[in-house]
Amino acid sequence: MHKNFDLNRLNVKAFAREEISLEGLQDLPQFTRLVELEAKLGTVSHADLPGSTQISWAIQGELVPVSGGGEQIWLHLKAELHLTMQCQRCMGAVTVLVSSDQSFRFVADEATAEAEDEASEEDLLVLTPELNVWELIEDELIMCTPLVPKHDVCPTLVPMSAVDEAFEEAQDARPNPFAALAQLKKKPN
Ligand SMILES: [Zn+2]
Repeated sequence: MHKNFDLNRLNVKAFAREEISLEGLQDLPQFTRLVELEAKLGTVSHADLPGSTQISWAIQGELVPVSGGGEQIWLHLKAELHLTMQCQRCMGAVTVLVSSDQSFRFVADEATAEAEDEASEEDLLVLTPELNVWELIEDELIMCTPLVPKHDVCPTLVPMSAVDEAFEEAQDARPNPFAALAQLKKKPN
């Protein structure tokens, strides 16, 4: 970890100016909204399963010169983890790789972000003196979590009628994943 940069309160402008790259592993339990999402959409808790409970992440700052003067502040972010969820075909536990690869460009204010958002492939964020990178990583991973997780090939074959009944009962019983995500998605400040 770079001693001059605290990812709870990152000075993005300074980080971009120095074009620093950082990467690491972070324990999942720190990300309470992701843990809650996994609990809502899964059947088995991570504690019962072997394997990784860590998020691997990497960030890189970049200053991009603009023709005519000035420069843009960019942050590139990659993050991934394995979540244990419920397969929507066989209803068994399925381990899903959730990964995000996103670039952010920082702008002066909300009005600029709204004006330029349509024409931009990157995400626009309003520049703040202190960015919580962990929250940003968590937001991105929540958005990349599949709403209908499935095995590529389900491990057991069940008669079709039984599958359909089980599927429909489970659909009635489980929380609406869109509602669950909406609740968890952090509201913009
Ligand atoms: Zn399955």
